[in-house]
Amino acid sequence: MDRLIVAVSQNAVIEAESAILGCDRCSAAASVRFWQILDQLRIGAGGEVIYLLPVLACCPNCRAEIDEITLVQPKLVSNRDAIAPLCEAKREA
Ligand SMILES: [Zn+2]
Repeated sequence: MDRLIVAVSQNAVIEAESAILGCDRCSAAASVRFWQILDQLRIGAGGEVIYLLPVLACCPNCRAEIDEITLVQPKLVSNRDAIAPLCEAKREA
């Protein structure tokens, strides 16, 4: 089986941190692996990807360390829907 190994940039880790509400230590709703958040940010090229984090991510809620297989609670179902109004607000300002 071909597996693509992706070295994640530190910026991408920060971006993924901002897309979650909490981790399995502080949220009962944590049901998604952290690497799946990275996947949603389209860092990978699809298919079976193994993500390598340059640094451990940090839970925005309880500050616990998060690695790629930690369960997290995603902030949004759809990133695009939430980001669009923010972009419009920026244009008006
Ligand atoms: Zn947490």
